[in-house]
Parts: sequence; C-alpha cells; structure tokens
Amino acid sequence: MDTTEFRRRGKEMVDLIADYLENIEQRTVYPDVEPGYLRSLIPEEAPEDPDTYEDVVKDIERVIMPGVTHWHSPYFYAYFPTANSFPAMLADMLSGAIGCIGFSWGTASEATLVALLAARCRAVRMILASDPQRPETGITSKLVAYSSDQAHCSVERAGMIAGVRMKKIPTDQSDKYAVQGETLRRMIQEDKAAGLIPFYFCATLGTTPSCAFDHITELGPICNAEKIWMHIDAAYAGSSFICPEFRPLLNGIEFADSFNFNAHKWLLVNFDCSTMWVKKRSDLIGAFKMDPLYLKHDHQESGRYFCTDNSLFRSLKMWFVFRMYGLKGLQDYIRKHVELAKEFESLVRADQRFEISADVVLGLVCFRLKGSNEVNETLLKRINNGRKIHLVPCLLSGQFVLRFALCARTTESRHIREAWRLITQLAEEVMQELPH
Ligand code: PLP
Repeated sequence: MDTTEFRRRGKEMVDLIADYLENIEQRTVYPDVEPGYLRSLIPEEAPEDPDTYEDVVKDIERVIMPGVTHWHSPYFYAYFPTANSFPAMLADMLSGAIGCIGFSWGTASEATLVALLAARCRAVRMILASDPQRPETGITSKLVAYSSDQAHCSVERAGMIAGVRMKKIPTDQSDKYAVQGETLRRMIQEDKAAGLIPFYFCATLGTTPSCAFDHITELGPICNAEKIWMHIDAAYAGSSFICPEFRPLLNGIEFADSFNFNAHKWLLVNFDCSTMWVKKRSDLIGAFKMDPLYLKHDHQESGRYFCTDNSLFRSLKMWFVFRMYGLKGLQDYIRKHVELAKEFESLVRADQRFEISADVVLGLVCFRLKGSNEVNETLLKRINNGRKIHLVPCLLSGQFVLRFALCARTTESRHIREAWRLITQLAEEVMQELPH
C-alpha cells in the first residue's frame, strides 16, 4: 500500500467505522457463535501471495463481526465501560503513525502489580536496614499483603505473581461491602503476633461487583503508622472524580502511596490508557531500575522525561480527548451515566418483585428478583440468551445479583427503558415457571 492508496483506504476505513458505530444498536449485542467458529472460516496458513485489500475488508463482516461482542452498543450493560470516542480513535491513528516505543505500565492490573512489587522491595530494604544479617528469603516468606474480598481478581493474581501471601479482608452488607479500618487493624495485629510482616494493602474505590468504596480515611492512617504501602485501585470510579460532587469519595487519598484509575474505562479514552500516581517516585524507580548502556540518555533522572517517554501513546489519546471534550464535556458524560443509572434504579425500586442489592453511587446498579439464586440465575440466562441486552452477574453476601452497568457512550433513556421492559417481561416468564 503506497501513500496514495493509504489516503483512499484511510478515508474508507473512517466511513466504515462511522457506519459501524452509527448503526451498532441494530446488531445483536452478544455473538451467537460457539468458540472455534473461526476455524472453518479462515485458512490454516497465511496466504502465499498477498490478498487484496477488498478481500480483507469483505471478511470483516463475514469472518470477524459474527464473533464480536459489541461493547459500544447502547444495549451493553456488562462489566464496566470500556471507553470509546472519536477524538481518541483519531489520536490512536496518529500514535500508530508516530510509532515510537512506549515503555508503558499498562492497565490497572499491572498498576496493582507494579505497586505490590515496589512495596515488597521497600519492605525488604527497610528490614535489612535495621537487620542487615537477616536473609532476604526469610523476609519475603513472612510478608503479607491485604485487599478487600471485593477487590478485582487482578489483585489476588498480583500476589501470586509476586510470590507473597495475599489475605482477603471480609466485608458484608452492613459495611456496604467496604473495608473498615477496625477490620484491617485487627488482621494486622493478629498477623504480626503470628510473626508475619504486613507490607501492602490494596484499597478499592469502586469495586467491580458493586462499586463499593473502602474507607480510606480510616485505612490510610493505619497503613501509614504500620509502614504498609497503601495502593488505591480506582480503575472504574476514578474518572468520576473530575466532578466536584464525586470528589469527596477520594477523601483520604493523601495517605496513599500509589493510586491508579483507567481513563480507558470511563473517560472516553480508548483502550488502553491507565494512569498511575506514586507518592515517592524513588520507591518505584528504585524497585525496577535497569541501567543498560543502550538505554542511557542525558535526561535519565528527570521526572519529566520519565512521564513523557513512558506514555506517549496513551497521553496523545488523552490530550485529544481532554481538549476536544473539555472538562465540561467529560463531566457531562459522567453525570449522564450516573443519571441513567439512577433512572434504572427507580424503575427497579418501583417494581415490588425486585430489590436493589447495593447503594447506587455511580453508573452501576446491582439488582435482583426477590427470591432464590436459581430464579435470578435463570433470569440472567434468559436475558443473555435473548442477545438484545448483555449483563453479567456478581455474588453479594452469597446472593446471585445482576449488574446493570452503564457502558456505552451512546446509551440514552430510551435504551434503559427498553432494557427494563425486556427484563421484566423475562422475569414474568421465569417467575411463572420456577418457585421463587
Ligand atoms: N480494578 C477494578 C476495580 C476493576 O473493576 C477492573 C476491571 O473491571 C480492574 C481493576 C482491571 O482493569 P484492567 O483491565 O485495566 O487491568
């Protein structure tokens, strides 16, 4: 493809993308194919001679689209949003063209891991400073990290990768599924009495199951006093802190050693774009410093270089989005999702057969039919089998709960009402068939 053809194909691709997004709600939100469906549609090997561009484009609808879950359909209410905006897509094209290497930290899961590894390194150094004869393996085998039992599974996995004990702190309905200071304090005391070394706590602001907020104003001072690294995972909820009315949810941030949120979830910057702040830069750099000759340059120690070098691809997308939406546009977008979530919540509350399972703070509504887990599992299966809307469940206090997350940029009130009409219609059927 030469430049002349690239200009033409590029314009065609923009049209294809615009058509796809403009008409996305006509597509089935969830694919109706079995894993492996691609095998019979694609050749075993790459073509010996090049295919034409037309051949490739033709196969988008024939081969690719049947297997796609349309995350940007206004009928997609599963997981949390993955952001999507035109300025970010344009910036993505530009970063592809500039094409320099971004040594990036990646996603929220990686931020949790990176913070954990830095915390481990800091803990070992602190102990060795006062007890230089102590063998390092003896220290690491005693380390213990904590997170809520509602934390994202990537936190537990970070513990596995780092090879340290990770303990889950219990939460329940009475705590609104948030970790309380007293519970953490008790666990730390018990672990210290058993000879363990508490060193890391991952708090979550906006948990994946129910968007709960750990009490960091209580937890932070405990962590600081015990020299425990407090990392805050605000992967989803972090974007909402650009609105003054949600900023109090961030109270206690001053106690954190590191903080992360995903602009690629709820701030209109396409995947991936995850941001991480660290209170003491040297704790992070010191833990991972590599100094090969081929990477040396004159600005090695400057913080400014560190930022720009590591995240050109992500920051370019952010820069486009921030400038073209402006703070007001981004705040409007967040507020609209929250309003739609409140609208859905009122629909649920107005129906005596249903109950709300957790406080609705941002764009997530956890709800269920009053009754058994079986009846709710069947309802969710029916909803997803219908393929008109897509939701995923969570377990709260042993109850099977349906999560309705505002995801798509284009979701409007009419989509919410249509989704609710569908849910109640299927609920009616399920309740007639099953004891509840
Ligand atoms: N943390 C929380 C609270 C999440 O909800 C999620 C994903 O939904 C993650 C972490 C993982 O984010 P990522 O895919 O960026 O690793």
